[in-house]
Amino acid sequence: MKSTTLISEKLLPICIAGEWRLGGGEVYESIYPATGEVVARLCAASLADVEEAIQRAHKAFLTSGWAKKLPHERATVLFRIAQLIRENAEELAQKQRLDNGKSIKETRALVASAAGTFQFFGAACETLEDSITPSRGDYVTMSVHEPMGVVAAITPWNSPIVSDAQKMAPALAAGCAIVLKPAEITPVLALELARICQAAGVPKGLISVLPGKGSVIGDAITKHPLVKRVSFTGGTSTGKHIARIAAEKMMPVSMELGGKSPTMVLEDADLDHAVAGVLYGIFSSSGQSCIAGSRLFVAEPIYDEFLSRLTAGARALRVGDPSQDTTQMGPLISSSHRNSVERYVELGVSEGASIRTGGSRLGNDRLLGKLSNGYFYEPTILEGLSNKARTAQEEIFGPVLVAMPFKDEATLIEEANDSVYALAAGIWSRDFKRAWKLGRAVQAGTVWINTYKQLSSSTPFGGWRDSGLGREKGRAGIFQYMEQKGMYWGTNEMPLPWANLS
Ligand code: NDP
Repeated sequence: MKSTTLISEKLLPICIAGEWRLGGGEVYESIYPATGEVVARLCAASLADVEEAIQRAHKAFLTSGWAKKLPHERATVLFRIAQLIRENAEELAQKQRLDNGKSIKETRALVASAAGTFQFFGAACETLEDSITPSRGDYVTMSVHEPMGVVAAITPWNSPIVSDAQKMAPALAAGCAIVLKPAEITPVLALELARICQAAGVPKGLISVLPGKGSVIGDAITKHPLVKRVSFTGGTSTGKHIARIAAEKMMPVSMELGGKSPTMVLEDADLDHAVAGVLYGIFSSSGQSCIAGSRLFVAEPIYDEFLSRLTAGARALRVGDPSQDTTQMGPLISSSHRNSVERYVELGVSEGASIRTGGSRLGNDRLLGKLSNGYFYEPTILEGLSNKARTAQEEIFGPVLVAMPFKDEATLIEEANDSVYALAAGIWSRDFKRAWKLGRAVQAGTVWINTYKQLSSSTPFGGWRDSGLGREKGRAGIFQYMEQKGMYWGTNEMPLPWANLS
């Protein structure tokens, strides 16, 4: 791939049930957050495109034969998708970097993860079993699963290829057709994935990618009667809005939503590991991660030493050009998002926080040339807040850590759980039994002990409370896209006794 920022001179076509053409909506641009330059121009999908994509997806689901393929046949296609992602990994990683500004090191990892997701669901598809349940009469009973039909995926901008793959792979493995609405501002990788899926042999019509505004395109997709499930990743208020629409349709939804995850450092922690883990947990992805460890609780006796080391670590992070292999933190996604992060830091200060480090945009002395137009923000640590402060309770989705000392474990558990969110948590301790008990007491969809932000395709992922509903990943992830059916086979020698047959 050339080293220019513009991916294509021409308007990017979108994928409407396997046909590539310009969307019927308005022209807009995807912007490289590191420089503010244009990455791609495209026409958003229109409401007519949504209708056409869903109608044709429904037809393809019924007629393409995909749902009827044997599991190993669908698996072969999913393995081919994984292979094609790997063959095009560097190009995809560069495009992902341009589309959302993450560092190249991280986008390479995202691409590898997406390939792994297709491989995992290919394997999972081959190994799924229906069950024969104990019969309670003259019949054999089975519990089987059927693909739902047309399902929708709505994804955010922070890790596009990963979020898209986590929904496309299990939906295809299940035998469904999928209509994907990526975040308006990061459409490129969803379109790339659709091309790869087609090239790998997914029948035409089964995949659509419809970029555009969530409030228009996402809303229309969610409300459409032929859409049988929505798998959503994004903010909690959007998730609740979609869930209300789903309730009217009696449609199942899965929701991967926001977080304000506690990280707890006990006095017996290995401090080198804990400092490295806390820095990675909050500042990788510039904090734009649902699982960011954004609330830090440190045992009082080690608080000062830990914060000194953490502050030195935050100041040493390499923030800047996402195209460099050595860069650890790129920009925030947009100017308006950086404004929102700035407002949260101001709010924190008005609530009584002191800024231990950071608290500003990255100065032009650290950003050369075009990068001075990028949306960079310093890794920031706030101290002196109570867990009740809004800054400690609300999701900032940026490189801002709220650090608090804790006195005893009972208070720690109470405060760690005192949040509307319950997505993830981190524990740093050398005491295996203590860490285990704390891990069981913390309310969260994922708990990391002496590590952070490690994710495996085979481990179900999701949140409690305002952090979500349902689980993605794991073998059972395919069942999200299937309906369960009980089947009874009569083995009676005689007709059922109820009727008065002579
Ligand atoms: P949003 O909720 O704003 O957007 C997510 C997606 O929903 C976008 O595609 C958006 O479209 C779409 N959308 C917006 N309004 C509607 C609507 N009325 N109907 C249907 N779709 C709609 O979240 P962000 O993009 O700002 O993403 C950040 C959030 O995502 C954070 O809260 C983060 O924690 C969460 N997240 C959760 C993860 C998890 O696994 N738990 C993982 C990653 C992020 P558009 O933006 O194009 O208008």
